[in-house]
Amino acid sequence: MTIQKLQTLLINQIAAGEVVDRPASIVKELVENAIDAGSTRIEIQLEHGGKDLIRVSDNGIGISPSELELAVTPHATSKISEEADLAAIASLGFRGEALASIGSISHLMLKSRRTDDESGMQIEVDGGEMAKTKPVAASVGTAVEVKRLFFNTPARRKFLKSDGAETTRVRDVVQRLAASHHDIAFVLRSGDKTLLEFQQANSKERILSIFGQELDGELIEVDGNIQGVTLWGLVGKPSVARPTSRHIRVHVNGRSIADSSITHALKEAYRGFIEPKRWPTAALFLEMEPSLVDVNVHPQKSEVRFSDRDSIWRLVNKTISGALAKEDIVPAYVPGVHMPSVGGHGMQVEFGSGSSPSFSVEQARRAVAGIELPTPSTPLPTIMGPDAVMQVQKCFLVTQDEQGILIIDQHALHERIMFEEFSKRIAKGNLESQRMLVPDAFEADSGQLESLETHAALFEKLGIDASASGPASISVYALPTLLVSRNVKGGKFIRELLDKLGTSDFPSSEEEALSAVLDMMSCKAAIKAGDYLNPQELADLLQKRKEIERSSSCPHGRPTTMRLSIEELEKRFGRR
Ligand code: ADP
Ligand code: MG
Repeated sequence: MTIQKLQTLLINQIAAGEVVDRPASIVKELVENAIDAGSTRIEIQLEHGGKDLIRVSDNGIGISPSELELAVTPHATSKISEEADLAAIASLGFRGEALASIGSISHLMLKSRRTDDESGMQIEVDGGEMAKTKPVAASVGTAVEVKRLFFNTPARRKFLKSDGAETTRVRDVVQRLAASHHDIAFVLRSGDKTLLEFQQANSKERILSIFGQELDGELIEVDGNIQGVTLWGLVGKPSVARPTSRHIRVHVNGRSIADSSITHALKEAYRGFIEPKRWPTAALFLEMEPSLVDVNVHPQKSEVRFSDRDSIWRLVNKTISGALAKEDIVPAYVPGVHMPSVGGHGMQVEFGSGSSPSFSVEQARRAVAGIELPTPSTPLPTIMGPDAVMQVQKCFLVTQDEQGILIIDQHALHERIMFEEFSKRIAKGNLESQRMLVPDAFEADSGQLESLETHAALFEKLGIDASASGPASISVYALPTLLVSRNVKGGKFIRELLDKLGTSDFPSSEEEALSAVLDMMSCKAAIKAGDYLNPQELADLLQKRKEIERSSSCPHGRPTTMRLSIEELEKRFGRR
């Protein structure tokens, strides 16, 4: 084939393939135009998932009759005019290609009227063919109708999913746009059904109407800033974590975006609060000078590039972890509700099941059976003072605070404490290390030997000295002091660590890897279920619990503490 210049229509259809691939992306472009036009009310009507009709009407500033043709012409825009504007885009649109693209693959009708115009004006584009403008009756604002979607690009039409699936995507797009434009009212209808209806509201009310009113009281407000960037948002308490990341909304300068770095910063802030497999609920709004973010990096403008990605990561992470640390997040014991059970090691606590709460009957019976009689060798801690604590079944500690009875999983709590201790020490530099009197040698396979080499830097940071002492053996010469003081066996520990480091799903980023190893070390060093604790140890443990942030859950997200509130007790004893 010889090289030839493409026809304008073909160029537009190719562009349309990137910008408008389905009803949801058309709705996104049209609603963004309506937002850019300063509207306060935007209505969207769909027929058959948008395949037969998409109509977006607004009450914005409208388009001058003389510019109607330009509006549907490719690369014609009122939003930027010179190169410098591209570096600081304040509007949602800027490429001037949406209306032209949509017009090339459908039958598009655009009518508009400005406040001072005597009547409205209309233009139609059919598969790229523009008809003459004509006056029509219209209210102030703009309405765009898209019919016969993809009639001239049948391959694309075939890619569309069922009406229901396309409608769901449109709904999602409208929710995302509505989240960051709380001062605009939105209505989405499909056929004669109203799917979404948002009144003008404040930011918090809008988020609640999107996420569901049942989250009222379950959201924590976060607020932070660094030079040139502010962050505001609402994040869910750990109790409302979800199995998918669908309830994470990130907005930058009023634009809903997907950003793996911000999502990661958010998820990391919840480390220890929710199980690793679950996702927090969050609506985050970042505002920054337009020059600090490049929005021109994605055809549908759903990703952006920050000039300083790392400081945005830190802003999000620190703001949210700070806010979570301030909350008192001790899960309440609610009869009949299963606590999240997490796979992994250590004790699992499951309170209550169905209509017969197993805690009050079964656990209490075992608790009573587990109380050891005071003998000189095992003195019971005093049960008189408010700080009194009782070890039950060598596994749980029972004490009280102002709000009720606290039940603590001794392993989970100590693990949390160890994790904090390790994290604190490592933040200051390499972990302090203690040489072993006799090196601990073990037989190693090639995978373990390879892990040892690859992770040399990590080992140094952790205060571990281990090296190959033969073609198939490794000797351990030094371990972190904190592990030695907890009687952790060098050889066994290093073997497990090397195996863990060698697995394919082990995190590759330095920060995450370190955190995962500290997790493991904390677990190994922690008091186990079955360990007897003397009164001094009990007192120390409870004292440390008060000192550390997030003592209410272990690094794996299992609760360390559960509270049986006075109100709950009063209810159960018929006092309320
Ligand atoms: P862009 O939004 O990138 O400028 P579009 O093709 O989406 O490109 O729109 C072209 C132009 O038409 C816009 O720059 C704007 O001036 C005008 N326009 C489109 N939709 C509306 C609307 N709903 N209200 C007012 N003006 C609009
Ligand atoms: Mg646009």
